[in-house]
Amino acid sequence: MDATAAKVIAGTMAYLNENYLKLQAGYLFPEIARRVREFCEANPEAAKRLIRCGIGDVTEPLPPAAVQAMKAAVDELSVRETFRGYGHEQGGDFLRSKIAQIDYRARGMEIADDEIFVSDGSKSDCGFILDILGDRNRIAITNPVYPVYVDTNVMAGHTGLPNESGQYEGIIYLPCRAENEFVPEPPNEHADVVYLCFPNNPTGAVATRAQLERWVSYAQEHKALLLYDAAYEGYISDPQIPRSIFEIPGGTECAVEFRSFSKTGGFTGVRCGFTVMTKRLLAQTADGRELPLHSLWHRRWSTKANSVSYPVQRGAEALYSEEGRAQVRGLIEHYMGNARVLSEAAKAAGMEVYGGKNAPYIWVRTPRGLTSWQMFDRMLQELNVVVTPGSGFGSEGEGYFRISAFNSRANAEEVARRLRGASFS
Ligand SMILES: *Cc1c(COP(=O)(O)O)cnc(C)c1O
Repeated sequence: MDATAAKVIAGTMAYLNENYLKLQAGYLFPEIARRVREFCEANPEAAKRLIRCGIGDVTEPLPPAAVQAMKAAVDELSVRETFRGYGHEQGGDFLRSKIAQIDYRARGMEIADDEIFVSDGSKSDCGFILDILGDRNRIAITNPVYPVYVDTNVMAGHTGLPNESGQYEGIIYLPCRAENEFVPEPPNEHADVVYLCFPNNPTGAVATRAQLERWVSYAQEHKALLLYDAAYEGYISDPQIPRSIFEIPGGTECAVEFRSFSKTGGFTGVRCGFTVMTKRLLAQTADGRELPLHSLWHRRWSTKANSVSYPVQRGAEALYSEEGRAQVRGLIEHYMGNARVLSEAAKAAGMEVYGGKNAPYIWVRTPRGLTSWQMFDRMLQELNVVVTPGSGFGSEGEGYFRISAFNSRANAEEVARRLRGASFS
């Protein structure tokens, strides 16, 4: 190699994934953090009263059954006789069999143990699933939406640039409004992949059986794939509302379900969730062959991952024991008690309130036509309460804000007290 060629090569940098440059700056939670920080610096007295009902993170300690199981698992790993190394790349049989049996088969859904894939949480799974899907899919996403579905598609190069209302070229947006009770009907156009999330973050809406049946019919007609995020299924108390897309006839042939222990077992910091994908779920090649996605998803796991740590899986397993289930129910009742307190207070303050019945989120219309960020600022300045501006979840969220029920009861009651005394006229 002569000297000039070497120089040219030396001057060439690694290329980056330019799709990341399409992502919109000023992401919601950093912007909230910035405004809260500025307010607290300028108002140190009010800062002491600040209550956060913004980010959707649990506040209560882990269920004791999970703690005990995780400690016992660490002890097991600490002696030669019971030490374990790598486990099954899809997750331990001990955990997958409990999930499949208790969450699905006992409720009449035909899910085999090897159709469960245990991961470090649903956020990861929502992104990883794109590894096994092609690049030419028409993607449909609700508006407002959990931002992960959109951004992972942007990163994968499935979109163009965003327009001024923040919508990306190439994505079909499904508006969720008060008129449709925040549950979109299937569109009149073709989509290959549809993201659905019920109970919904951020709106707290749930889909009825009839609504989910229409989505499954749409998927059958269009040979579309439903990506069904059921992270909050544990919060459904209404027995008429399906907790899984697989409760709908035909669902196992058109949907992948994402579940998480984050909001049920309080595992947001522990990290564990799973996907359910049946071997009957098909997708097509460019030349029209219809093949099961399951073998690709399994290959993806065995090549790129090894499930999640053994103590964590034992902790998740413990959530299925009798005590574990009672403790999870207790946690959910606690958060839903907060949701009731907060919903009633917002209603008493004259606001239009949605969600909060089968989900830990309350979706509130801003009074007097305030924008979401104006309302955010007034809640911060006048009540010293942090909420999430609805517009941060998409253009259809403008004019709404989200109150999270993840808090201590004392905090929820204090927020309720301040809301009742508020006047946003
Ligand atoms: C919290 C949440 C999840 C779960 O995320 P993890 O990564 O499992 O903690 C999934 N989907 C939605 C919509 C969520 O709000």
